[in-house]
Amino acid sequence: MVNEKMYQLGNKGSAIRELFEFGKKQKALVGEDNVFDFSIGNPSIPSPKAINEKIIDLVENMDPVMLHGYTSAPGDYEVREKIAQNLNERFGCKEVGSLIYLTQGAAAGLSITMKALLNEGEEVIVFAPFFPEYSVFISNANGKIVTVKPNLKDFTPDFEDFEKKINEKTKVVIINSPNNPTGVIYKEETIKRICDILSSKQEEYHHEIYLVSDEPYRELVYIDVQYPFITNYYDNSLVIYSMSKSVSLPGERIGYVLVSNKCQNKEIVYKAICGAGRSLGFVCASSLFQYLLPTCVNVTSEVNEYKKNRDLLTSGLKELGYEFIPSDGAFYLFVKALENDANAFMENAKKFNLLLVPSDSFGIEGYVRIAYCVSRNTIINSMKAFKELKEYYEVKIHG
Ligand code: PLP
Repeated sequence: MVNEKMYQLGNKGSAIRELFEFGKKQKALVGEDNVFDFSIGNPSIPSPKAINEKIIDLVENMDPVMLHGYTSAPGDYEVREKIAQNLNERFGCKEVGSLIYLTQGAAAGLSITMKALLNEGEEVIVFAPFFPEYSVFISNANGKIVTVKPNLKDFTPDFEDFEKKINEKTKVVIINSPNNPTGVIYKEETIKRICDILSSKQEEYHHEIYLVSDEPYRELVYIDVQYPFITNYYDNSLVIYSMSKSVSLPGERIGYVLVSNKCQNKEIVYKAICGAGRSLGFVCASSLFQYLLPTCVNVTSEVNEYKKNRDLLTSGLKELGYEFIPSDGAFYLFVKALENDANAFMENAKKFNLLLVPSDSFGIEGYVRIAYCVSRNTIINSMKAFKELKEYYEVKIHG
C-alpha cells in the first residue's frame, strides 16, 4: 500500500483549495459573475510591465541552451548576488549571495527550511492564525507544531503564551508579516519583543533557536512603515521570500531562502539547506525565472489597487455591521463569523455564492478569511450577498 500519511494529505486537500475547486464548479453552473470567490490568494493585479518585457528579452536574446539549461543546484550565483545587493541597499543589512538558495516559491523554501533545521521531535512555534501549510511542512520534517494564541485586540502574539510555549525542544519560530490570514503587519516593537524573548531563551537552553521570517507579502503594505527586516534584529534568522505575491507570479514558482550572514555556523546551516533541497528534489529552480529575478527585485505590482479593494470592502462590510481586524497589508481581511462555528458559517455563506475560508485551518475559531485580490466588480456585486447573509443570520437568531 501507499504511504498512509501522504494518502491522507492528497485525499483531503487544503480547505482553501477545496473551496477554490467548489467555486470553479459553481461558476460553471450559475455564471462567473454570480459567484463571489474570495477563497484563494491568487493576485488579481498583473505583473509589472518590466517583467514581461524582460521575459521576452531573455527568450529573444539569451543563449537558449543556457536559458533553459540547469544552473547550479542552489541557483545561478550572479542572480543570488544581485538579490543580496538589493536587500542590502533597501534594508541596510550585509547579506551575501552565497547564503541564498533559490526555490520553487515560498512553499518549497519553507519545506526545505523545516527539513534542514529540524531533528525528530523538535518543536516549531507558530503564531495563530497561521498559513495552514506550515503544519504540513513541519510534520514532513518530523517536527512538532506548537501554536501560540493571538492577542485578540490587534492579532499580535500573546507574549505570555509565547514564553510559556518555549522549552528545550524549541528549535524554530516562524513569523509571517504582513500576515496571511489577517493582513496585520508586525510593528518594529513586536519584532523586537519576539527577538528579545528568543535571545534570552537561547541563553537559557544553550542552543540555537532559529527565527524564520516567511514574508511573501513583504511589499504589499498599505501604511507608511519602515519594514523591519529580520536579519537586522536577530542573528539566527532565515528569510523565506517569493515572487508569487509582490510581482504576481504565483504560477511560475520562484523564490528563495536566505540564511542571515550573522547566523551562528552559517555555512553549516546553509549546507543543511542545500541538503534538504537535494533530498526533497528542489534543486535548480526554473532557470528562465532565475534570470528574471534581478528585474523582479526592483519592481512591485500596483499595490494601491489592493488598497482600493480593501477600502471598498471594509467600508461596505462596516456599513452592514460586520466586524473585522484592520488589514494593513497582504490582501486578506479576517472577518468575525456570525456564529462561533466558522465552518457552519462558511456553508451558509455558500448559499449566497460567497466563498469565505473558515478560520479553523488557520488555527483559530470563529472567523473567516476574505482574499480581496479580486476584481473591483466582485467586491461591489458581493455586497448584496453579504447583506443577505447578514439578514439570514438575523432571522436565524432573532426569528
Ligand atoms: N507563506 C504564506 C504566508 C503564504 O500565504 C503563501 C501562499 O499563499 C506561501 C507561503 C506560499 O507561497 P508560494 O506561492 O510562493 O509558494
